[in-house]
Amino acid sequence: MNLILLGPPGAGKGTQAKLIEDSRKIVQLSTGDMLRAAVAAGSDIGQKAKAVMERGELVSDGIVIDIISERIDEPDSQAGFILDGFPRTVAQAEALDTLLAEKGKVLDAVIEMRADDDKLVERITGRFTCGNCGEGYHDVYKRPAREGICDKCGATEFKRRADDNAETVRSRLEAYHAQTKPLITYYGDRGKLSSVDGLASIDDVEKQIEEVLNGIGSNE
Ligand code: AMP
Repeated sequence: MNLILLGPPGAGKGTQAKLIEDSRKIVQLSTGDMLRAAVAAGSDIGQKAKAVMERGELVSDGIVIDIISERIDEPDSQAGFILDGFPRTVAQAEALDTLLAEKGKVLDAVIEMRADDDKLVERITGRFTCGNCGEGYHDVYKRPAREGICDKCGATEFKRRADDNAETVRSRLEAYHAQTKPLITYYGDRGKLSSVDGLASIDDVEKQIEEVLNGIGSNE
């Protein structure tokens, strides 16, 4: 099963992608995570992407298309994948169509996670992750059970993304509205799109997505 999670920053794509990974045994492919790893490693791509990401703008289509094309060829992507944060422009969506056709793969569904901008700013500026295992937390909505200790792995170091500040979030939302939102029509026109309420609780959203995934193939 090959899926796209589509939605603004902070809509919960990463959280739900991890849940789908566990339930469906398919892999999350997050271009944001891959680019952050490239920045941390100081690679050529990382050096090109760093300033763009700090401004909350989009990295060039060519860079992310190449990254995804290679990643889809890896052994762990063969059982299926969840694209999280890709595609983000119509050019990326067209390139994805081409490369999936070349690789003999199909896109099963695109799930849009709907959410209002004001709520997203609050969600994003409060979020942080475990520095060891990556478990996600939030200042208001999901604090560790024991203060300062990761529920999942017991580590005591946490980190926040450099681009999760209020100013950069506004730019990221602008980029979403200007460049990514047209993909809702793109995939709607192709009969691939389903929408869920991204502002519902994590459990509720998970259930809504589960319903969409259970329906895949039943109306073909
Ligand atoms: P994310 O983790 O998905 O919020 O992505 C963080 C940042 O990485 C974005 O604000 C962009 O600068 C960059 N980025 C991630 N995915 C893409 C993409 N598909 N196209 C262009 N830029 C991207």
